[in-house]
Amino acid sequence: STELWEAWLASSLGQLRSAGLLRTLRPVLPTLSAIQVLVPGDVLAPWIEDGGGHACQEVTQHGGALRLFSTNDYLGLSTHLALRRAAADAAMLYGVGPRSSAVVGGYTLLHQELERRLAALKGTEECLVFPTGFAANLAVVSALGSGEDAAIFSDELNHASIVDGARLASRNKGQLHIYRHNDMQHLEELIRACPSHHRKLVVADSLFSMDGDFADFEGLVRLRRKYGFLLAVDEAHATLVCGSRGGGAAEAFGVADEVDVHIGTLSKALGAHGGFVACRADLKTLLLNKGRPYIFSTATPTPVVAAAIAALQVNEQEPDRREHLWRLVRHLGEGLGVDACSPIVPLIVGSEAAAVAASAALLEKGFYVPAIRPPTVAPGTSRLRISLSAAHTIEDVDALLVALKECGILPATGSHAGSCQRAEQDVVF
Ligand code: PMP
Repeated sequence: STELWEAWLASSLGQLRSAGLLRTLRPVLPTLSAIQVLVPGDVLAPWIEDGGGHACQEVTQHGGALRLFSTNDYLGLSTHLALRRAAADAAMLYGVGPRSSAVVGGYTLLHQELERRLAALKGTEECLVFPTGFAANLAVVSALGSGEDAAIFSDELNHASIVDGARLASRNKGQLHIYRHNDMQHLEELIRACPSHHRKLVVADSLFSMDGDFADFEGLVRLRRKYGFLLAVDEAHATLVCGSRGGGAAEAFGVADEVDVHIGTLSKALGAHGGFVACRADLKTLLLNKGRPYIFSTATPTPVVAAAIAALQVNEQEPDRREHLWRLVRHLGEGLGVDACSPIVPLIVGSEAAAVAASAALLEKGFYVPAIRPPTVAPGTSRLRISLSAAHTIEDVDALLVALKECGILPATGSHAGSCQRAEQDVVF
């Protein structure tokens, strides 16, 4: 129950304190001045002339334009003027490399500012910015799930970084239970079979990266209330994509304050690079002391941090980007005749060879839609993974639909029943 977690946290932090080892602060290196990240209407160097939108979804190959339906740049921010400007300014002011780990001088006022803004977005007390999203998941699951009194419950389709964190924790005596994808009955059975004195951690992707469906938030929250486990969700694909403020799927489903640990990445919709964990102050302190991927890795580069701050500002100032993205999702879903519940739309084709051939046929027509094969997905479910970005236009999607038809690529019927209906209602604008 929750008391087990409280007692464990208090005792873990207490032990460190009495040994004189508790780290509560990181040295904050001053930055020269606050960076002017948004300059609306400003005219800059020629490289910004494409307006920072469409270009990121197009590359030139063999003299022809190739339309990308493969990126995680969901809002098209990676080439946004504000982000380029922020990163360039920060690089000129502070240099590129952060020079050391965040706990020994790689942490600056800009990192602090980004953490403050991310905590505000997620509605949590605190936030910790990690070098990557992979490191964030690894740190959370290995730090919280280790010890013989710990039990981790992980969705079978969780991201590799959660899987690896769980493997690390189980080497450190944590018990690992894998529940069938979104199967709340199975999760409950596993929880009930686990001794009551175990600290229980349930971890799930909020938006599953290869299927484009959502975690069963309603079920997870119901079970959390019943069993008092700690709930961690990886919002890598949902941050800035879902929720009216872009807070993520937990916000969209109205349960953000029932999630204990919000994990995310800066490398997808934020258009930058790095990861983060938003949570309560004591959990953050625990990660500062026990999160080895945080402590022993070089901090996020300052230009990247500046770009992520700019992304959060753009998110507030240009909400139409998210609205446009969801319009594209609906348009693609209608065109394919499927319930597309997110910007990730898989077309399951079956064998690895069929997926590779389908991707190659689309490439010939000027579209890059990657083939996803085992071990990323289960054998026999190889697929094309279409990902949409606000930098696409309705015409881009129409052109893709024509190409898919010409290549004879059709969606499998009946995909995404159930959870999508809720997404349609609650997540889409
Ligand atoms: N979680 C999920 C669900 C992801 O898809 C990814 C990236 N593929 C990560 C975490 C890792 O994030 P990053 O790329 O920032 O390391």
